[in-house]
Order: sequence, then C-alpha cells, then structure tokens
Amino acid sequence: MSAVTSGLVCGHHHFYSALARGMPAPPRKPASFREILEYVWWRLDVELDEEIIRWSAMLGAAEALMCGTTAIVDHHESPSCVEGSLSIIAAAAAEVGVRTNLCYGVTDRHGPDGARRGLAENERFLRAGGRGMVGVHAAFTCGDDTLHAAAGLARDLGVGVHIHVAEGPDDAAAGARLEGLAADDWWLVHCVLLDRPLPGTIAHNPRSNMNNSVGYAAPTARPNPIVLGTDGIGADMLEEARLAYVRLREHDIAASPDTVWGWLDNGYALFPEARDDRVTWNYDHADSPWHVAFTQGVRALEIVSGDGDVLLRDGLPTRVDLAEVRAKAAEQAQRLFAHL
Ligand SMILES: [Zn+2]
Repeated sequence: MSAVTSGLVCGHHHFYSALARGMPAPPRKPASFREILEYVWWRLDVELDEEIIRWSAMLGAAEALMCGTTAIVDHHESPSCVEGSLSIIAAAAAEVGVRTNLCYGVTDRHGPDGARRGLAENERFLRAGGRGMVGVHAAFTCGDDTLHAAAGLARDLGVGVHIHVAEGPDDAAAGARLEGLAADDWWLVHCVLLDRPLPGTIAHNPRSNMNNSVGYAAPTARPNPIVLGTDGIGADMLEEARLAYVRLREHDIAASPDTVWGWLDNGYALFPEARDDRVTWNYDHADSPWHVAFTQGVRALEIVSGDGDVLLRDGLPTRVDLAEVRAKAAEQAQRLFAHL
C-alpha cells in the first residue's frame, strides 16, 4: 500500500538556478544579501542564453516531477536574452509535463531600455496566451515609474505582479514603495522585513532565507494567504515543507505541521487542476503531515496527470530521457561556467 496525493505546487522558483550548482566561486566572498546578489546572481543572469534557459528549465522540471511537484510558479531574468525567454521556459516545462505560471522580472538595473524590454516580454507572453503574471525583480532595483508601469500592465492584463518584497535590508522600503499599488492578486515573495500589510499572497521560502541569512519571515504573523516556495533551490516541496515546519517550530513551540501543509494547499489557488494530478509515493503515510514532517526520503514513484497522462513511472520522467536531460544540462552548465 502506498499513499496517493495531489501533485504538489512550488509557489516560487527560478528555473535558471538549476545550472548554478557547482558554479565557480565569486571573485570575492559575499558578506551580505546585497553582495550575494551582486557577486553570484547578477553575474550569472547576464550570461543566460536560449540554450542555457532551455536546459535549466528541462532539468528543473524533470527534478520537480521526481519530487511529486507538477506545478511551478517561476520568476525569470535573463538580461542578455529577454525576448522569447518565457516561451522557451514554458515549452521546456510542458515537454516534461510540468505546469507553469511564468513571469519576467523587470528591473532598472540595465537602464530604461532593459526595463522596457522586460515589460515587453511579460506583455508579449501573456497576450499570446501564456500563463503567468507580470514580474518585477524587486522595488529596490526599480524606480517608481517602472513599478507603476508594471502594476498598470498587470491590471490591464488581469493578472497579478510577481515580485520579491523586503527580502533583505536593501529592500526594507518595499512596503512604502508598493503601498497603494499592490492588489489581492499580487504574488509577494519573502516579505522578511515587510513593515506593513500589503494585499496579495505571500510566497515563503525558508531555505533560501536561511541560506541568505536574511532572518525569519514569520509568515503566521501575517493575514495574507501563504504559499511555499524554494526560490530556485530545487522543487522538492516535501523537503521544503519539512524545513518550513522546523523553522516555524523554532519560532513557535506550539506550531503544527498542519499549518505548513496548509501553505502547500494554498498553491492550488493558482493551479486548481494540479489537485487532480495523482502522485503515488514510496511511503504509506505521505498524505499525513505529522508523518512526513519527521520522515526523510519520501519519493514520488508514479504521477498520473488529471488528464490521464503518466508523467512519472518508477520514479523517472516518462516524456524525456533523464540521462539525456542531465547530460545536455551539464554541457550548458560548463558553457555557463566558462563565461563566469
Ligand atoms: Zn526569488
């Protein structure tokens, strides 16, 4: 007997991080959240091209399926390859069999033309029928004009804005900057240092927050719906839930894993059809938060989508050859590392 659950939802991801593992060390050791962005992520994202984007999404999607994750909210930035980038990711994930909600993270870091191209990519993708939101990197890398333009575009298109909010000290003013712009359909990521209520869903990423040493986001103190994300560190949602639970418990001895599993459940607001995906696990109690919170190595064995397609068999993706995806991704990673 093995437990069967719905497909899991990753509430905030960066597929392009899939190839960052093992990247060369930055020229200087980052000593703050800002330096982690400057020395690691902003050196990496500028090197992303079509093939790197494609194979990082393929690998990220394949690894997600192997963890029982069938739907991903992704936030993408590739300043040297903006136009068409969201379609590349959408196609790659769909090929593997993972549902996506995508956005391009607009920023003023690359000047007004960079921001304009980012907004245009969101608009192009969404108007062509792509599923997603309007992306903004974060308030602290955007001027007010760009924030207003993104909010306006999202309103026009009837979608929310997917934005990092008060993740670290550099973005502590995000609450004041976004007040009056944010709406219920916004996707607010992190909110570690958010100093006031903003409307929207909060994506909580405990592992990333710990890794970046930005502090605890204390999501239970906020009235917003909470979803769980990985912020680019894979898409193993049971692993993230276990970590979210012990981090919550460190903060509140009376906390229950049911709270964290409620955050997983909130992901279906964006992907209702993922509820109909059937994941068979290698553990009889994979449907019980109190069991999974204290059980490592729970793996997905089989996934059948709501449409009846077998996406995972014997723990391996069926639509792509995992070995080939890993080999191609490794080739692209080597190319990326050479540029770094
Ligand atoms: Zn993020």
